Amino acid sequence: MNKIYESTRNNQITSSPSNAIIKGLASDGGLFVLPQLDQILLEMNELKNMDYAMLAQTIFEIFLDDFTKDEIKNCIENAYNHKFSTDQIDPLIKLNDGYILELFNGPTSAFKDFGLQMLPQLMQTALKKNPKDNKILILTATSGDTGKAAMEGFKDVAGIEVIVFYPKDGVSKVQELQMQTQLGKNVRAVAINGNFDDAQSKLKELFNDEDFKQQLLKQKIQLSSANSINIGRLIPQIIYYFDGYFQLVRKKEIKLNEQVNFIVPTGNFGNILAGYYAKLLGLPINKLVCASNENNVLYDFIKTGVYDKNREFLKTLSPSMDILISSNLERLLYYASGKDNEKIEQLMLELTRTGKYSVNGYLFKTIQANFSAGYATNDQCANVIKEIYENEDYLLDPHSAVAYKVLLDSNDLKHKSIVLATASPYKFVKSVYTSLFGPKDADEFELMHELEQKTKTFIPNNLKDLDQKKIIHDEVINKNEMKQYVLEKIKEI
Ligand SMILES: *Cc1c(COP(=O)(O)O)cnc(C)c1O
Repeated sequence: MNKIYESTRNNQITSSPSNAIIKGLASDGGLFVLPQLDQILLEMNELKNMDYAMLAQTIFEIFLDDFTKDEIKNCIENAYNHKFSTDQIDPLIKLNDGYILELFNGPTSAFKDFGLQMLPQLMQTALKKNPKDNKILILTATSGDTGKAAMEGFKDVAGIEVIVFYPKDGVSKVQELQMQTQLGKNVRAVAINGNFDDAQSKLKELFNDEDFKQQLLKQKIQLSSANSINIGRLIPQIIYYFDGYFQLVRKKEIKLNEQVNFIVPTGNFGNILAGYYAKLLGLPINKLVCASNENNVLYDFIKTGVYDKNREFLKTLSPSMDILISSNLERLLYYASGKDNEKIEQLMLELTRTGKYSVNGYLFKTIQANFSAGYATNDQCANVIKEIYENEDYLLDPHSAVAYKVLLDSNDLKHKSIVLATASPYKFVKSVYTSLFGPKDADEFELMHELEQKTKTFIPNNLKDLDQKKIIHDEVINKNEMKQYVLEKIKEI
């Protein structure tokens, strides 16, 4: 089968898999999607005994049919072998009310490593197939974790430059230091005065700014993205849904083909969308449960069909989910509408013009059949961290705690539930420490050591000496200086 991706907004705008990875975003601002995805059904019986790498091989072969099997195999090996601190890269842990799938044992201690260890491999391979004179410039907005994971994944990769934009006061101290101290001559981070949505919206503008793109092309530079709008970042995230499910089967906690729920702490809708892709491919999922913090725009959407970002942007204990415009929702709308490109274009236009749109009929029914939603306030999040630690001796980070709270609130007694744990508690040590022991006037690194001693857990190696490392990236700019900033920096490339 020859698989061609198309834009969510226009089925005449198409791309091969490898070119979709190189481009990141379709030329009309839409996202690349595989139209045949909902016609492929995998046989669970054939997958159930596969290890992570074999599952990955199977899934990638579906999505990347212009890559050879060997190319895919090499990408998987380079991305995941010896990069994670646990033998099973996504360990499953049983607690009283459900299961935790730990996704934070990679090199930057957040689940973003699953996508961003793989994306550089895929992009390099894609570039070999489509030789370009141009250098690739990856511009990425981050709510904290993508930035570091992208810098780490792409450091010193030839032919690819990375600039990361993060909200100055919108990330934890540990997250900021992770980015500021990153080595690699082709990666940079810069803070902007604004929030994540400001950075992401501005970047989308730049991706559609012809003058900007022409200026880059003159210097033989073309743009790409490392956000989850890039399919090369999204596809790797499908695999752990399968792997988590089969771990449950092998532990005899569920029968093969028994339906489960996945509860996903959600911001840009990338992680949970990967779960929907897994479901389309045949993984027995009852509901994908979207867990939000107080920026609960997605909760409202799934409950009512109205998406309205016109509301105050709140800073919460789970900053990586402080997002009001969730990019990947567009891909769900595409599949749930029966691939109605025109409808998607119209909805996205409405979102740009008014900050709002609504869905009903078949589209909304399909969403409600596959998704449910819940949210947690800051107080609830802090209480869950304390409760689960005290009662079950398990330390949740604030993002995972939001999802765990949604699990505790759910009254689905029929299905087992898996909560995706997206970050190490040490990345958000101040919030975690305060939730457990009350506020303490100490810096984040003192708190890390205290947390380690008091809870008998371990600081991940990559976070240990962060405060001793040299700060390399410390620029701060305004959001309307982003274009100029990039044009300045490319002179040095
Ligand atoms: C990015 C992130 C999320 C949100 O994931 P999306 O794919 O943007 O929905 C949740 N938790 C953590 C720790 C993250 O870094």
